[in-house]
Amino acid sequence: MKKIAIIGGGISGLYFANLLNNEKDFEYKIFEKKDNYNFLEGYGIQLSVNSIKLLNNIGFKNLPASEVSFPSKVNFIQANNSKKICDIDLTQFNDSLNRYTTLKRSTLLKFLFQNIPQEKIKFNSNITKVDNSNGIRISFGDNKNEEFDYLIISDGIFSKTRSLIFNESIYPKYNLNVALRGKLNGDYGCDISIYMGSNSHYVIYPLNQNNEYNFVAIIKKKLSSDKLQNHDLFKSEEFIASLVSGLQKTSQISSKNLSELKSFPVHVSSEFPSLNKKNIFLSGDALFTFPPSFAQGASQSIETANDIFKSIFSGTNEFYQKRIRSISSINNKSKLNHFTFHLSNPINIFIRNKILKYLSKNKKFLENYLGKIYRS
Ligand SMILES: Cc1cc2nc3c(=O)[nH]c(=O)nc-3n(C[C@H](O)[C@H](O)[C@H](O)COP(=O)(O)OP(=O)(O)OC[C@H]3O[C@@H](n4cnc5c(N)ncnc54)[C@H](O)[C@@H]3O)c2cc1C
Repeated sequence: MKKIAIIGGGISGLYFANLLNNEKDFEYKIFEKKDNYNFLEGYGIQLSVNSIKLLNNIGFKNLPASEVSFPSKVNFIQANNSKKICDIDLTQFNDSLNRYTTLKRSTLLKFLFQNIPQEKIKFNSNITKVDNSNGIRISFGDNKNEEFDYLIISDGIFSKTRSLIFNESIYPKYNLNVALRGKLNGDYGCDISIYMGSNSHYVIYPLNQNNEYNFVAIIKKKLSSDKLQNHDLFKSEEFIASLVSGLQKTSQISSKNLSELKSFPVHVSSEFPSLNKKNIFLSGDALFTFPPSFAQGASQSIETANDIFKSIFSGTNEFYQKRIRSISSINNKSKLNHFTFHLSNPINIFIRNKILKYLSKNKKFLENYLGKIYRS
């Protein structure tokens, strides 16, 4: 029996554990830093068909339809006058069983968590050392040690475990943008709407069938390193109010329907860690964190976990290595989206809108830009 340690019980770690549930030759343990999950959190997540296909293999399709939404279009809207420029039909990438889906992040985590036997997840974990000179030996804050055959590092963007193992200082960088997240009450339709402003954009989409909507804005903001370290700043009502009023100057967003607003700086990866440690795999944001302008972070986390599973099973690194190529391509597309959504010069905006109108209906372009990722 081979032993697998999964560090971090987020989307990627929990998905990987679900894959192992039916495997008799492997046993696993998840080490999670938090003391529990908050299944009441209302923020949203978009999942494209590439990850829905993998999730459906482990029973996601049995979730009650009222807890998810199936948007059929992405609308592109100019934020300053709320005029729709064009839309992309998402159903062209769906098939009869797998559809582009939006839902609460907590609904996804609850689904992934429900099949994990209680004894296989250890909350409040504090990993202090990983020795991989001869097998994999993990040391914990309470002076206990445990040995494993494989290690899956899925402890998110600021992965401490990655720093413990890889000597290179691969630290995500602030990408000069702040994210503002919240819930919107009202009726904003059943599709995804991207409002493109000046140096900012925001996205609205349904979280379920109960008229609850996710709001997420990405706003350009230069911040000193002192401010970036100051966690209280991002929680302060004053800072959040300043972000909302900044958005209102270039868009028609109304703050009265917004609730549960939270802000945080956006950090992204700029390079890959080396993938040369035997039986040690990085997954999800610990491997690579994208700018959030393609809504692919979670979907890619699930795909990577699936490729790690196939690699371990087949005894080669092949699937995992191949993933790097698609991650690089998605990273470039995320950066291009971000640039396009944030234009501020009226001439550039005019040209962008013309190009968007044309490309949004061009089958060849859509297949190349989205289809390749969504149908991977
Ligand atoms: C504003 C914004 C919007 C986004 N929207 C989307 C979207 O619509 N669609 C999409 O696909 N992606 C989206 N993403 C990206 C997505 O959220 C992430 O890519 C995804 O959550 C990564 O999953 P993960 O499992 O790697 O990490 P996480 O989900 O962050 O999980 C990491 C887990 O590790 C635990 N942990 C941390 N440190 C330790 C430690 N030392 N020891 C043990 N456990 C530890 C954490 O508590 C957590 O449970 C968005 C990101 C941002 C910033």
